[in-house]
Amino acid sequence: MAKIHFENEAYSLNEGDSVLDTLLEAGHDIPFSCKEGACQSCLMKLEEGSLPPESQAGLSEVQVKLGYFMSCSCKPSADLKVAQVDAGQLTVESKIITIDQLNDSILRLRLEAVFDFLSGQYISIWIDDNTTRSYSLASVKAVDNFIELHIKVIPDGIFSDKYCRRLNIGDKLKIQGPIGKCIYATNNKSQALLLAGIGTGLAPLYGILRDALHQGHEGPIHLIVGAKQASNFYLVEELNQIAAKNSQVKVTFIAQENNNQSACETGDLYQYVAEQYPSTKDMRVYLCGAKTFIKKLRKQCFLAGADRDCIHMDVFLPG
Ligand SMILES: Cc1cc2nc3c(=O)[nH]c(=O)nc-3n(C[C@H](O)[C@H](O)[C@H](O)COP(=O)(O)OP(=O)(O)OC[C@H]3O[C@@H](n4cnc5c(N)ncnc54)[C@H](O)[C@@H]3O)c2cc1C
Repeated sequence: MAKIHFENEAYSLNEGDSVLDTLLEAGHDIPFSCKEGACQSCLMKLEEGSLPPESQAGLSEVQVKLGYFMSCSCKPSADLKVAQVDAGQLTVESKIITIDQLNDSILRLRLEAVFDFLSGQYISIWIDDNTTRSYSLASVKAVDNFIELHIKVIPDGIFSDKYCRRLNIGDKLKIQGPIGKCIYATNNKSQALLLAGIGTGLAPLYGILRDALHQGHEGPIHLIVGAKQASNFYLVEELNQIAAKNSQVKVTFIAQENNNQSACETGDLYQYVAEQYPSTKDMRVYLCGAKTFIKKLRKQCFLAGADRDCIHMDVFLPG
């Protein structure tokens, strides 16, 4: 049985457990959030041993060279000696520039751009020494020069409600990142792009859409935003204006129920995508939002012909 050496103690790793599980069970205070290898809040540093490659998937070249790894995705078969990473080394401070309400339940935070990023990546915000939440980047660095986040307020949610309610312009947030590969990345400027999301899944898609246009994308871009109720949509005017100015852009809002008589489609998003795109062959697909939504639409687009490497996803796992 492999052992984890940490702070002068050794702990046996139970079958199927990760380094994070083992250290938490031993009573150590290791920060973590999504536990699915996305948020990077559980990063640790290797001191001796050999890491399973999946524990470094998605880390930057520098992080890999430094021996950083995600302790939630690290299930080694041989002994490892590991150390905690000082959160100060992972985070930078960024000042809040604006706070707006985009609709009844969605906040827009704009922060100073303190590092380079690509639209559609995400950052983790540190709420305290052990708690982080991840948010996707809706801004385009070259155009906006700020970090824009769209935050759905979940009643009593630790960050989106309780913490955000206390925030003011000028406050500083500790942020880590940027993380992720759900970005505009094609050498083929005439490729058809399908961007589909629900809820604040629009945040990364809004960034990717504007980044694609900024980079001179010429092929058709179809943004499809889904919601339960039409009143849940936001940025409707801005997106319709983008479509009006760029003939290759089509924006569709589709709600299960049109409760405020908006000019949107009513129906099922999956069915709408199936009807519009019986074949997704040669298309590049971006899917953002809740895990169940992404899993279902990814399968649908894959079965309709999209190449696995051409389906990009930003999965909003709960913290
Ligand atoms: C890569 C990534 C990107 C993300 N991007 C965004 C984004 O751009 N905008 C955004 O609003 N959120 C995003 N999220 C989700 C976000 O990180 C938080 O999980 C969410 O804001 C809830 O945090 P909280 O502290 O307010 O709620 P918590 O206190 O963590 O949870 C309160 C309750 O709400 C439930 N819950 C948690 N998350 C969700 C959810 N997403 N939907 C429904 N119920 C939930 C919990 O199970 C719990 O019961 C992203 C997550 C990931 C991993």
